[in-house]
Amino acid sequence: MSTEMTDSRTRDQMYFEHLEQLTGFMTTMEEFDIPAIFAVMGELCKILRVSKGVTTFSENSRPGRPGTEEAFVCYDDGKPNHLASSMRVVTSTHMVISCDVYQADDVEPLDELERKRVELIQRMMLTCLNRSRQDQIIERLTFYDVNGYKNLSCWFANLNKRAAQGNLHNMVAIRFNLKHFSLINEQIGRTYGDQAMRAYANLIDEQIQPDGLLCRIGGDNFIILMNRDHLDAVVKILRGAPVVFDPREDQRVKITSVAGVYALPETRVPNITDTVMNKVTAAYNRAKENPSGNIIFYSDKMQRAEEHAIRIQQMFNEALESREFVAYYQPKVDIRTRELVGAEALCRWIRDGKIIQPMDFIPVLERGMDICRLDFHMLDIACKDIRRWLDEGKDVVQVSVNLSRRHMMDPDLLEHIISIIDQNNVPHQYIEIELTETMTDVEFSDLKRIVHGLQAHGISTSVDDFGSGYSSLNLIKQIPWNVMKLDKSILPAEGEDLSRGSRMFQHVVNMAHEIGLKCVAEGVETKEQLAIMDQYGCRVAQGYYFDRPLPVQEFEKRLIQKVYQQ
Ligand code: C2E
Ligand code: CA
Ligand code: CA
Repeated sequence: MSTEMTDSRTRDQMYFEHLEQLTGFMTTMEEFDIPAIFAVMGELCKILRVSKGVTTFSENSRPGRPGTEEAFVCYDDGKPNHLASSMRVVTSTHMVISCDVYQADDVEPLDELERKRVELIQRMMLTCLNRSRQDQIIERLTFYDVNGYKNLSCWFANLNKRAAQGNLHNMVAIRFNLKHFSLINEQIGRTYGDQAMRAYANLIDEQIQPDGLLCRIGGDNFIILMNRDHLDAVVKILRGAPVVFDPREDQRVKITSVAGVYALPETRVPNITDTVMNKVTAAYNRAKENPSGNIIFYSDKMQRAEEHAIRIQQMFNEALESREFVAYYQPKVDIRTRELVGAEALCRWIRDGKIIQPMDFIPVLERGMDICRLDFHMLDIACKDIRRWLDEGKDVVQVSVNLSRRHMMDPDLLEHIISIIDQNNVPHQYIEIELTETMTDVEFSDLKRIVHGLQAHGISTSVDDFGSGYSSLNLIKQIPWNVMKLDKSILPAEGEDLSRGSRMFQHVVNMAHEIGLKCVAEGVETKEQLAIMDQYGCRVAQGYYFDRPLPVQEFEKRLIQKVYQQ
């Protein structure tokens, strides 16, 4: 046997061995090990007398356009060479992948068999790269949202992976929501709003690297998994940080968040993703429900509150059907004539003979859409009472009903309200709808549409709790409210600096009157407060000074008596 034949036999053998190895790599279900594949490719290049192998991706069918092409050299022996074979495919996503093979200038051209073998390898290379690119695309679709933020699936996958590796030491989860973001959008416009959100997210992302993960749950809700060491820095940003939203003008806006924080357990727990998500959400919900709330750390007490919330949600349907929710009416009184001029319907839950106060269940129901069913139920009760009073010949006053901001997403809200009132055959002037001004997650345009719609039907609207939170003057000016309900906190309470407090009250009342709104002061408890109201021309009071919210039979006595004693 000649040495040449032995050489070619061993070359064949090596070729097939490498080919087998390559096929092994490519048929694995795991992620491709690209460096290992390139190493085998290099060996094959040597055997097949190839000087250089290059693969190229381009985003469209015009290769060479700047910025759209990426090239990977899988082997290069550095010799002067020329193109020997080129192969390309266009993928289903219109990407062009090519595989070019070069031969050194000083070697014999490939023979027929070698050419076939080179082509086979090229084809395999294209298949392999096509799939790895597809994997990347699939990863993008699975783990990123349309705006390029990592999503909740990504967060879950990362948490699961870490848990499987026993790598949760010193980790914390944070769930947060940007405060008043719809007002920020309203003020600077949606495009700048997006940029501001991005800048804020980047600010946090920079703090939590190298091993932290920030994902967007949706809208202006985010979740973080990160090392505890970064906690102080991140909390500082969550408490409020200015971000640039228009780089040309260097314009900035301050963004603040509401957040729940949970430190992950060091020991193994079953179902880690559910556990972490539930606990961080419990802390987040607490933060959201707390009016002055900002950042709340998870505690076991919170767990109990969360269990209470879940029980309420579970009991709700049955309680609604068995009519456990009733309306109490709190009178509104003209402070000069002492006449009863209106009432607010406030919900009470009577369970096993005990009264549950709204603060114990309304915030829980507001987490989901259950609150909407309760509000419609309350409107229905109020309408039935009004109809009955009218039929009994009583001198009926206007009754206001509270609507949670949750309703704003309902495109049929207006029709629904009107249909409840009309089914009960109640003239529209007897109903007022109270909406709070601090509707952070509500679109301004939705609110405007609803208020306009109600007015077109002759239903009065009031902006509730004015002055209690983040008052947007825009919201007051651009929406044609009938009534401004001044929050308790605006009226100076006993022991407070009277002159300072009453000045504030005076300004708010003046402003309301200037834009044509009637004023109702809430939480009026003392003679002194009545005097301040009288002095600044706020005519209507609702508060313990006159009455607490009353069961319907009690309230009916007020309807008959009509005037309060001086
Ligand atoms: P709100 O709409 O601001 O209702 C006024 C609250 O102030 C009532 O609390 C009322 O009892 C209380 N209040 C009235 N006068 C005084 C006073 O002189 N001093 C003090 N300290 N408090 C006074 P309530 O009935 O506990 O209701 C609390 C909140 O629950 C309501 O605040 C409202 O936001 C919500 N709510 C009650 N019923 C409903 C309902 O049917 N639907 C919705 N969506 N929310 C409701
Ligand atoms: Ca109210
Ligand atoms: Ca109120």
